[in-house]
Amino acid sequence: RPQRLHHWLDHWAQRQPDAPALQDERAALSYGALAAAVDGVVQGLREAGVQAGDRVLVVGENCNAAALLVLACSRLDAWVSLVNARLSEREIDTFIDHSRARVVIGLAEASTEAVRHLQRLAGQPRRWPGAGDVLLAAGHPEASPEPVSEAAAEQVAALIYTSGTSGAPKGVMLTHANLLFIAANSRRQRRLSSTDRVYGVLPLSHVYGLTAVLLATLSAGASLVLAARFAPEAMARALADEGITVLHGVPAMYAKLLAWGDRPGNTLRAPALRVAQSGGAPLDQALKDRFEQHFGLTLQNGYGMTEASPSICQTRLDAPRRDCSVGPPIPGIEVRVVHLATRAPVPVGETGELWLRGPNVMKGYYRNPALTAETVDAEGWLNTGDLARVETDGTLTIVGRSKELIIRSGFNVYPVEVEDVLNAHPDVVLSAVVGRPVPGNEEVVAFVEPVPGRSLDTDALMAWLRERLSPYKLPAQIIVMPQLPASATGKLYKQRLREQALQLSS
Ligand code: ATP
Ligand code: MG
Repeated sequence: RPQRLHHWLDHWAQRQPDAPALQDERAALSYGALAAAVDGVVQGLREAGVQAGDRVLVVGENCNAAALLVLACSRLDAWVSLVNARLSEREIDTFIDHSRARVVIGLAEASTEAVRHLQRLAGQPRRWPGAGDVLLAAGHPEASPEPVSEAAAEQVAALIYTSGTSGAPKGVMLTHANLLFIAANSRRQRRLSSTDRVYGVLPLSHVYGLTAVLLATLSAGASLVLAARFAPEAMARALADEGITVLHGVPAMYAKLLAWGDRPGNTLRAPALRVAQSGGAPLDQALKDRFEQHFGLTLQNGYGMTEASPSICQTRLDAPRRDCSVGPPIPGIEVRVVHLATRAPVPVGETGELWLRGPNVMKGYYRNPALTAETVDAEGWLNTGDLARVETDGTLTIVGRSKELIIRSGFNVYPVEVEDVLNAHPDVVLSAVVGRPVPGNEEVVAFVEPVPGRSLDTDALMAWLRERLSPYKLPAQIIVMPQLPASATGKLYKQRLREQALQLSS
């Protein structure tokens, strides 16, 4: 039974050293070359003073070096904390402060404010074979190793920051056992084998990318094509020409991919694709249908959160769903849906708050035991903060976040329901619906991103909504934005939109 993340690397490097493992925009590495490169990075980290229990903060986009650092930290029993290179200098400093990292590593390929900040801290880049140029800077002055777990699998492997949808990102401690459990599930559910070629555009800095993209692929001895950032034309090219068999994305990526395919002169085809997976944010029916019509392939849905490493539910390959439910809980995980206030289980088919327990539940929020205790109870049940309903066959449907529920004149408005209708409009790529407090009530505000090159008439959009939704669900205001604010994963920053909605009313 594998104990640490690098287990699968050792396994496949021995069995198939020449098979392709990783490929980024600059280089390709076989399993044998990957193992050798990891040894080099281990050496480099040791020389920089990294010990077991230290945090190693890595700032970068998807590239071979990011994967090498994950595996090298695993070998050293250090905690890897990957963060996205598109963050601001101030955000990077917040993560250095919070993680008290021993070293901070910038992956020099990315030319962003964050990487330029690290250039100033680190000086000249150094070359690690297989990893390319890296910037190595001293971390927090008070860095000191955290205790190392007696049981290898219980050792923290990664410190992952949440997406920051609802506020400031939270630092989640995930163990080797947490991540390996989800990686194994991901491999099994998708029946990955060494002949698969996975497209990796979901950031490895997010636990969805780390497990489903990187670790699941390595555990199968398959190969991974890493893309630094999402661009529909690059994804389309990889699907058409690179023999991609497995694709992971968030709904916004699929929406933009299809919108790209609709433009005159563009063709979208995926001859080798056998699994397409969506997750991380609500999938809507119009998008799912369009994807399936175009590719003749089911768009699978999965649901999870950083605190659950991340997978909780997953639709099954052998039981394709037409609707946008997220499937049953993955084997080994217990779930319950409870009344928000009383925490008593609600009847089948009714909406309540979703709790779960299982081997994927985080060790806790780093340096925040109070928030950990609020989120995970004494019996190990984690409160997702999401609303869901469960069918008799065990399938779950996610209704939204409990904190995002809008209560309009005493009626519940689920933002997802309004977003679904907006997204189904032919001129809309994406939308985000938030609540805005008004004296004694709350009103619905919608933000929409139009299909590039098209203009949106808000009156026509209101009419579209009026035909399809009850009056209390209708937005008081529709705001058109050329691009909705989103994280590197493509998740919309709803808290920022909520603040914007407030400003717009005053
Ligand atoms: P933060 O916790 O910082 O506000 P976040 O919750 O968006 O950010 P993640 O851990 O990346 O950070 O996202 C988990 C959340 O994403 C879930 O709690 C849920 O609300 C939403 N989510 C994930 N997958 C799905 C899905 N398939 N359908 C609907 N919602 C989803
Ligand atoms: Mg969250």
